[in-house]
Amino acid sequence: MIHYKSKAEIELMRESCMLVSKTLAHVAGMIKAGVTTLYLNDLADEFIRDHKALPSFKGYHGFPFACCISVNDAVVHGFPTQDELKDGDMVSVDVGVFLNGFHGDSAYTFAIGEVGPEIRKLLKVTKESLYMGIEKAVHGNRVGDIAYAIQDHTERKHGYGVVRDLVGHGLGRDLHEEPQVPNFGKRGTGAKLKEGMVIAIEPMINLGTKDIYHDKDGWTIRTADGKPAAHFEHDIAIRKGPADILSSFSAIEEAEKANPNLTYSY
Ligand code: MG
Ligand code: MG
Repeated sequence: MIHYKSKAEIELMRESCMLVSKTLAHVAGMIKAGVTTLYLNDLADEFIRDHKALPSFKGYHGFPFACCISVNDAVVHGFPTQDELKDGDMVSVDVGVFLNGFHGDSAYTFAIGEVGPEIRKLLKVTKESLYMGIEKAVHGNRVGDIAYAIQDHTERKHGYGVVRDLVGHGLGRDLHEEPQVPNFGKRGTGAKLKEGMVIAIEPMINLGTKDIYHDKDGWTIRTADGKPAAHFEHDIAIRKGPADILSSFSAIEEAEKANPNLTYSY
């Protein structure tokens, strides 16, 4: 069942989503070679609690951390660890917060130090595909229109692998609500997009094969061929006309550009 949100509820959700964005910007300023992903997780956890919210992921189906932090061949759901990040790594940070009774959920992938053109392009194209999906997220369209736009740009145009096993989702009082929002599909198919729907659109795009496997930690999803994967996620509210993007990359991108230890992906 799809839970449609009132305008007042969407404003509450905007606060949850913006706190996620601020958390990601805070983390972005601290990413560098030599820090551990557990350290980044703890920074985010503390930041969220300092803002009188709770990290949505902690305890979700038993997930033990505030963030999913996925490095290189880890696509999503990565376990923060004591391993130090290195120059040339790419790291996806996925954060959820619960505030005012609603969840926000957004993710961003960073490149540490000097990364090759292949990785820069993967990051650029994945982020572009997210906005192309958002362009189709308007009242009267269908979920398949979003899905097609993302797949067309990443897989058909650039030859990347679109993960089939994981999808975007509705968002609200629950972290994962109906409908599912895949990153692959046919135009004109799937749930109809209607004013008041809030969805998380989150392309998970692999440099190589679309195939993935579950790491033995039970959570981390990795690419089958060991090549890197990128992940960007926004929360949006459907309305008549262009979607209302409730999360924001502005502060994250500013922090990314200001951090000399990161390569800006554009
Ligand atoms: Mg997420
Ligand atoms: Mg999500």
